[in-house]
This record gives sequence, structure tokens and C-alpha cells, in this order.
Amino acid sequence: MKVMKFGGTSVGKPQRMQEVASLVTRDDEPKIVVLSALSGTTNALVEISESLANGDRNTAKQQIDSLHGHYQNFITALLKTESALHKANIVLNEHFEFLTIILKISFSEALNKDILAQGELLSTKLFCIYLEESGTDHVLLPALDFMTIDVHDEPQVGTIKVKLAQLLQKNKDKKLFITQGYICRNARGEVDNLKRGGSDYSASLIAAAINASVCEIWTDIDGMHNNDPRVVKKTVPIEQMSFDEAAELAYFGAKILHPASIWPAQTYKIPVRLLNTMEPTAKGTLITEEAGSVGVKAVAAKDNIIAIRIKSSRMLLAYGFLRKIFEVFEKYRTPIDMITTSEVAVTLTIDSDLHLNDILKELEPFGTTEVDKNQVIISVVGNEISQTEDIIKKLFGSIVNIPVRMVSYGGSPHNISLLTDAGHKVQILQQLNKGMFGLE
Ligand code: ADP
Ligand code: ASP
Ligand code: MG
Repeated sequence: MKVMKFGGTSVGKPQRMQEVASLVTRDDEPKIVVLSALSGTTNALVEISESLANGDRNTAKQQIDSLHGHYQNFITALLKTESALHKANIVLNEHFEFLTIILKISFSEALNKDILAQGELLSTKLFCIYLEESGTDHVLLPALDFMTIDVHDEPQVGTIKVKLAQLLQKNKDKKLFITQGYICRNARGEVDNLKRGGSDYSASLIAAAINASVCEIWTDIDGMHNNDPRVVKKTVPIEQMSFDEAAELAYFGAKILHPASIWPAQTYKIPVRLLNTMEPTAKGTLITEEAGSVGVKAVAAKDNIIAIRIKSSRMLLAYGFLRKIFEVFEKYRTPIDMITTSEVAVTLTIDSDLHLNDILKELEPFGTTEVDKNQVIISVVGNEISQTEDIIKKLFGSIVNIPVRMVSYGGSPHNISLLTDAGHKVQILQQLNKGMFGLE
């Protein structure tokens, strides 16, 4: 059995959704198809939620009506028969009525999650109506019946596996299953989600849970590229990379994959393929245990980084000092991305300011702290890059004009990370494209 995940742009236009239907029916292998919301929908739902949170019901109502209009046009172009259109209208009414009803309810975080879930619920239901209209046998598996996260918001493959197996067992004779990416239930049983871009994570978790032959991530580009195509003009796809390399790139900002989406596939040894819905014959990227080749493969940028420097005269090499500092971050469940130390100071970076004030307060007894916001981590990722000749020379040689705030080298054999001011991001990615890959 395999998993095929289609992102927002892959289902964002009626014709694209029809092409997805032909892609999932071209072979006979049983499969679970994971769909995102139509492109733009989750952003629109975020805006509706924000309007409600601000108590601006009129704006929220206008936003809901405009989204409803968009879906009305979508189904008219997607479906042909009266009966399919009738069913699709019932689905739209159900979900847009829900959105209209919440206008009257006071806003809460749980309600926000309910609003955000509407996108994937709509896309999967409309896709199933289209499959039915085209006479394709299939089953809709509600993600809210099997995709769960624990009290720490972590998904557990074991639990998902048991629940999913029960659902599949009930449909033993079926071959094509459709489900929602992104959405899940939390430990309180409420609707929740796997964070923005989370459908990749859903797909990888499902692939791990069913021990899939492959987890295919279908998107709008022909695989992982050597640099961020939104920032740099000329980029090229990478044919093969290891789970470790892909995990570093996903975590350090390559938007094509959700930051956490590699570990389930890696743990359960499921190959991942990144493929292009707009160009299904393109090779894409194969991600397995094998790196394929040695050397630098790609660079990525992670935005919104905060650097914290803790300076202490009494400190650093005294044993136990770093543990005490780390404990503060652990207490506030804030992951540290980069760290460097000197005799008198330690600097580390985090990607969320949610608990920044509490963290700074608790760091006070350890010395003076300085905070730099608006930083960016630039990661150079590849296989055994520390053994690659001239890598440091090439790397720093291509960015001599850019001030680097911090460097992390040797933490893993696959990554060199630099910290710099966010304002240098575009320039540094462009210069690295030329200096490391000879691309302009
Ligand atoms: P989907 O909606 O299918 O999940 P995303 O927009 O989340 O698609 O991810 C695909 C996008 O990721 C591409 O269109 C591209 O702009 C962006 N991207 C950023 N970095 C990379 C990279 N290194 N390789 C490929 N795509 C990247
Ligand atoms: N629809 C969700 C989002 O836009 C999840 C996803 O697309 O992966 O973030
Ligand atoms: Mg995505």
C-alpha cells in the first residue's frame, strides 16, 4: 500500500483536482490519498479567525461569503451532473453554515482550530464527490478518527497505527482511501492540527503507520531544489538525498517539506518521493537512507530567529552551567536551534518569542542577556560535507561582504549553519547559489 499526498496548489483549481483523480487511479496499488485544503483556503480561514478574535464580525462575515463564492465557482467547474452538484452544494452549505454559526459564538482557541479544519474537510469531500461522479470506487477515512496528538502535541505512530488498522479492516475489499492532511484530534479530544504545512507530516505519519511501500509528496515543483526558488532565480532539483539531509533542509526552512515530516518515514524506513503534479513524469527527489552522493546539496533559510547571548564572568566552563541554562528552555518547551560558546559567553537561537520574556527573566541569575531579533539561519546541507574539500573556503569566500553573527559547524556531518541579520537573507542565498553551485 502506498501514500500519495497532494498539496494546496495540486488541488487548488478544478482541473488540477481532476488531474489528481487520474494520477491516483493510474495504477492498481492500494493507496491512501492525503489532501491539503485548496490553495489559499487555510490563509483565508486564518484571516476569518483573526477577524473573529478581534471582535470584527462584519469583516468575518464578508470573508466567509467571499470564500463561499470561491467554492461555488469551484464546484461548478469541477462537476458535470446535477446530482453531483447537488451533493457538493449540500457539503458547502454544511461547512459555510458552520462558519456562519460561529460568528455568534465567543472566540476561543478551540474554535480557532475548528475553523482552520474546514479547508481539508471541504477539499476531501469535494474530491470524493468528483470520484463518485467519475465512477471511481473509494472510501473517505476521516482523519479526525485516527490522527491524534498527545498532551505535548506530539503524534504517536503506535496509536495512529492501531486506529488506522481498524478503519482499513472495515474496508478490506477497498483499494482507494481518501483522507485529510493537517487536521487531527488533541489529547482533550478536540479538533486540532499539525501546524501550517502539516499535510506532509500527516502523510509521513500515515505511511509509517501502515508500513507503506512509499510516501509520495506531490506538489508544484519537481522535487527538492538546491536553493529556495522563491528567492533565487536559477535552482536545480536534487535527484536523491538521505533522510538526514532532507530532515535538516525541512527543519531549516525548505518549505517544500513540513519541518517534522521526515522522522516518521525515517524511523519506519519508508522511502519518500517528492513529485510534481504539474509535471508527473519529472524525476523529482527520492529520499531514503542513502545519500546518493557526497558533498553539498542545498541551502535553506529559516526566518524569524531570535539570538540570545548570556554573558557571565563566573561561568562558562564551570560544569553544570549549560545544563542550568538548557533547563530554562526546557521548562518553556522552547527548542534551541543553534548554540556557540566562548569562555565568557554563550549564544543560542530560538525560533519563537512565545515565552521569551519568561525565559529572559529566569536567565537573569546566570549573567547579563542580550537579545537580537530578526535573525535568519542559513543552512548549507549535504552528505559528509565536513570532508568535502575546500568547503569552508568556498562557503565563506562567496559571502565575504556579509557579516555573519554565528557559525555552527560539525554538529552533524550534514550541516553548516550561519546566523545573520534577516536583511541579508536574499543576498546570502543568491551569493551562495553562485559560490557553492555555480548557478546565477
Ligand atoms: P504544497 O502546497 O504542495 O504543500 P508548498 O508551497 O508547501 O506546497 O511547498 C512547495 C513550495 O516550496 C515550492 O513551490 C517552492 O516555492 C517552495 N520551496 C522552498 N524551498 C524549496 C526547495 N529547496 N526546493 C523546492 N521547493 C522549495
Ligand atoms: N492546509 C494547511 C496549510 O495551508 C496544511 C497544508 O497545506 O499542508 O498550512
Ligand atoms: Mg506544504
